[in-house]
Amino acid sequence: MLAGFVALLALGFVATRGDAQPNTMKLIAPGVWFREGDLVNQDHCNNVIIEMKDYLIVVDANFPSGARLALADAKKVSPKPVKFVFDTHHHGDHTYGNAVWTGAGATTIAYQGVAEEMKRYEPARWKMAMKQRKDVADMHRDSVEPPQQTFTDSPHVITDGTRRVEFYHFGWAHTRGDGFLYLPQERVLCSGDAAVNGPYNFTGDGNIGNWPKVLDGALQLKVDHVLPGHGGAGGKEILTGQRAFMIELHKAVQQAVASGKKLDDLVKKSNGKQVASLQLPDSVKNWVSADSLPDQVKDAFNEVTTGKPAGDLPH
Ligand SMILES: [Zn+2]
Ligand SMILES: [Zn+2]
Repeated sequence: MLAGFVALLALGFVATRGDAQPNTMKLIAPGVWFREGDLVNQDHCNNVIIEMKDYLIVVDANFPSGARLALADAKKVSPKPVKFVFDTHHHGDHTYGNAVWTGAGATTIAYQGVAEEMKRYEPARWKMAMKQRKDVADMHRDSVEPPQQTFTDSPHVITDGTRRVEFYHFGWAHTRGDGFLYLPQERVLCSGDAAVNGPYNFTGDGNIGNWPKVLDGALQLKVDHVLPGHGGAGGKEILTGQRAFMIELHKAVQQAVASGKKLDDLVKKSNGKQVASLQLPDSVKNWVSADSLPDQVKDAFNEVTTGKPAGDLPH
């Protein structure tokens, strides 16, 4: 017990959130594993590994270092090769490992909007990440490797007779390219960052006003398991809670604007730190943190006052 604990400490596996289990694999359904990424120390996203008859499908490429960890864990659960890696959206923590996977023989696949977002934001973000992350710098590339296959149909379907895999796009929530992976038989939904389980929402490329509608689309599916891009696995409550958070955020900012409040009234500087002065109801507290709320309020404020999605505004 003690030896195990010391080993965990030595590896940096220190949970800072109640139920976070970074770098662990959890069996969700037969042949479906959820791998929780180390968000706190390495900014890794979660991965999902899906076993088909002759090969594996992995959800999200992760950062290069996360890709290597997920690939090593995939090898532990199955001798089958990784054939497809699905990029849920264009962010670096979900796609910068693309070349690691293709180098190992996999094909990267995404909704067409992911490739379009990359054209919009890259290579600027890749170049920035190279300065901040050794694993990105060590790729010795000028930019992210775009997904090799893109689709525009929704659902886009892959099946091999043993399992049916459906890829959906329900519109613009976290990014213009948000894709979902759904296993209808197992009622498993991989939501990327369109639905996260915790205070991990980045709204800078997003469309807060439209976000709930995207989740309405996801909620049309029969879902027992939701495997989010960040935070632990759960059920449908991740979708409904995330939806409620976006509605409450938008509503609170809208009401503040209607009562004449300015951005400076809603986000204040205190000891060089941003502090949001508005409160969201306790029912959505799983998605609220003092660190992330100020930027979310700012993005919502800009949407409400300009009538444009946050991601359409200069940023
Ligand atoms: Zn993201
Ligand atoms: Zn992410």
